[in-house]
Amino acid sequence: MIITCKCGKYRFEVSKNEIPEEGRNVQCGVCNETWFQTPYVKKNKITEVSPPSFSLIKTAFYLLLFILTAAGIMNMLKDYLITNVPETTNYYLFVQHMVEQIFKNISNLLIFLGIQY
Ligand SMILES: [Zn+2]
Repeated sequence: MIITCKCGKYRFEVSKNEIPEEGRNVQCGVCNETWFQTPYVKKNKITEVSPPSFSLIKTAFYLLLFILTAAGIMNMLKDYLITNVPETTNYYLFVQHMVEQIFKNISNLLIFLGIQY
């Protein structure tokens, strides 16, 4: 980071770890002026902001969690919804079909791999 002396005439390049987070007193090597320096100067603030880290695995995990939660809620409401909103029957038939397909594919895969269970 670049710090500017209180006198305004001199600027110094210092490494980030030379100025602790809580700040410290520094002295200009040219005019002997002393001042309290904090690490975040306006100029540096912008460049030090790092973009939010995007993790594909984390996103996939939360998406899966969301789907499972939604599916769990729908399963809990199954009897109520089928009785009161008959149109939802199609949803449950679809889910049942999907689950059956997934299990069929998994068992086919296990048979293919020669695993008996
Ligand atoms: Zn100075």
